[in-house]
Amino acid sequence: MIPTSNKRPRRVGTTARHARPAPAGRAPMRKGAVRLERRAHAPIAKGVLRVVPLGGVEEVGKNCMFLEYNDDIIVIDMGLQFPEENTPGIDYIIPNVSYLKSKKKNIRGVIITHGHYDHIGAIPYLSAELGAPTIYAMPLTRAIILKRQGDFTHLPRIETQEIQSDSRLKLGVFDVEFFHVNHNIFDTVGVAVHTPLGIVCHTADFKFDNNPVGDVPADYAKMEKLAQEGVLLLMSDSTGAERPGHSISEKDIEQNLEEIFQSSKGRIICATFASLISRLQQMIHLAEKYGRKVAIDGYSMKSNVSLSQEMGYLKIPKGMMIDIKDVHNYPDDKILFLCTGAQGEGGAVLMRVATREHRHVRLHAGDTVIFSSSVIPGNERTVQKLKDIIYREGAEVYHYQMMDIHAGGHAQQEDLKLMINLMRPKFFMPVHGSYFMLKLHTKLAKELGFKDSQIVIPENGRVVELTKDTIKLSKEEVIANPIFVDGLGVGDIKEVVLRDRQMMAADGMFVVIAIVDEKTGKVRGSPDIISRGFIYLKESKDLLYETRGRTKRIVEDITSKMHPLNVQYLKEELREKIGQFLYQRTERRPMVIPVVIEV
Ligand SMILES: [Zn+2]
Repeated sequence: MIPTSNKRPRRVGTTARHARPAPAGRAPMRKGAVRLERRAHAPIAKGVLRVVPLGGVEEVGKNCMFLEYNDDIIVIDMGLQFPEENTPGIDYIIPNVSYLKSKKKNIRGVIITHGHYDHIGAIPYLSAELGAPTIYAMPLTRAIILKRQGDFTHLPRIETQEIQSDSRLKLGVFDVEFFHVNHNIFDTVGVAVHTPLGIVCHTADFKFDNNPVGDVPADYAKMEKLAQEGVLLLMSDSTGAERPGHSISEKDIEQNLEEIFQSSKGRIICATFASLISRLQQMIHLAEKYGRKVAIDGYSMKSNVSLSQEMGYLKIPKGMMIDIKDVHNYPDDKILFLCTGAQGEGGAVLMRVATREHRHVRLHAGDTVIFSSSVIPGNERTVQKLKDIIYREGAEVYHYQMMDIHAGGHAQQEDLKLMINLMRPKFFMPVHGSYFMLKLHTKLAKELGFKDSQIVIPENGRVVELTKDTIKLSKEEVIANPIFVDGLGVGDIKEVVLRDRQMMAADGMFVVIAIVDEKTGKVRGSPDIISRGFIYLKESKDLLYETRGRTKRIVEDITSKMHPLNVQYLKEELREKIGQFLYQRTERRPMVIPVVIEV
C-alpha cells in the first residue's frame, strides 16, 4: 500500500499546500513516520528476537524482512513492487531500508529465496546503501541477480555467494539452512534460521507439486526434520490463501496443453511469464512431440531462455529453435511461437502481434493463442481488451479460466494447511499478501487449532518480538514508507510529486500568469491562462474571462496593502482562491500554478 496516495486531496487548501515546494523535502507520510525518522533508535531489548517486515505484508510485492538478535541481523529477500494506477510515472517501488542503514555493521548477510523480481528487484538499489553485504542465493537465483546487475553498470559491485539446498551458513548468531519448495521458478528455497531462541522458518513463495516438470517435489523430509527439532515460528506465503483446495500439478497442465496441440490446425502462439521456465519446457516438449518448430520473442523471455539453457534448467533439442523472422518459411501447423505479454502489457510481444505492430508475426484465422498464466490483479481489463482484439483478428483463444492451462506458483488453502501441519510451529505469522490474504491464512491456522496468542498478523515496519514463549506485535515501528524509483532516480520522488502527478492526471493543470507593475501594484494587461487536461479553453470563454478578472482583483487587493510585495504570499493566495473558484464552477481540482512576474 502506498500511504495516502490512493486518496485524492479533497480540500482546495490541501491542494495549495501540496503544490508548495516541500519544506526540506519532507512529505506527509504514514502517521508518525516523520517523527520516527528523526528519532535515534533506542537500544533493543537483549535476548529478544525481532522479526521486521519492511515490505511484502499488507501488499503483494517488494518482499523484504529482517531478523535481529542483539547485534546480529540477517535480511531475507529484497524485492520490488511494480507500480499501480495510483503512482503515475513511477517505475518501481522498493522497500525503505533506513533502519538497516543505521545498523549496517550488524548485517551478517542477505538471503534471497528465489529469482522473482518481487524478491530480488531492489538489490541493485539497496545493496550499496547497506554496505554491500554478501547475498546468498541458489544458482539460478544468483545468475538472475547477476544478470540484472549487468543493467546497472554505474552501480558498485554486489557480493554474492552461491548456496545449494543442503548448504548451512553461520551468519553471526544465526545458523541458516534451506529446504527445497516448489514454485513457478526453479531453485526456490525456504529458509530455516536456527536462532538462540529456536528455529524460525520462512517458506519463501511456495506450492507443493508432487509431479513437477523439470523439478523435484518439495523436501518434505527436511521439513519433518525441522519439525522434530521444534519450530518456534513459521512464516508462510499467503498469496494463495483465498483459493480453496490444492493447486493443480504441472503434469495435469501438460495434458490440457497437449489437447490444444492435438486440435490446433494452425500456428500456436503461447504467451506466459518470461520467468516461467518450466512452462516453456512443457511447450517445447509438446512442440517436439507434434513436430513444430519453436520461435521465441520478447527481450526478457529470450534472455531467460538463454540463461536457463546455459545453466541446464531448460533443454531444447537441436534444430528446433528458429528465428522469429523465419516463421513464414514453415507451414502454420509446424509453428509454436512463445512470447511475452500475457498480462496485456502495451509494449510486449503479444500486444504488438495482436495490433499488427509486430515486424514478423500477424494473427490470422486458424491461429490459436494460449494465455498460459494467471492474470495479475489489476490487469484484468487490459487482458480482456487484448483477448477481444485477438478474437477480432480471427484467432482462437485459450486462457486459464477456460481450461487448466496454468497453475499459480502459490500454495492454496489445503496446501497451506499441509505446510503448517508439516512444520508444527509454536507460533505462526502469515507473510506475502494483502491484509485480506494474511487474515484468511490465520483462519486456516485457527482451523488447525492455533490460538490468537500464537498468531501475529504483521504490518510493514512493525517490530514483531519473539521470546521462547511469546510472540507479539510490539508498538515499535521502523520506517517502512515505500521508496519510489523513477527512471534512474531512487527516492527523489517524494509523495508530494506523486500527488501532483495524480492531481494532474485526474483533473489537469491550470497556469495563471500575472504581470505586476512593481511601482503601481497594478496588473498589466489581462492575465494569461494556460491549461492542460482540465477544460477545453475554446468552449470556456466565460470561465476564463471571470478567472482573469478574479486574478486581477486578488493581485491588486494584495499589492495595494503590501509593501514591499511578498510574491510567495501572493502566489499562495492565488493558488488557494483560484483553486476554490474553479472548484465551485467545475467541481474539478486542477493543479493551479500561479506565475507572478514583477516588471
Ligand atoms: Zn515468487
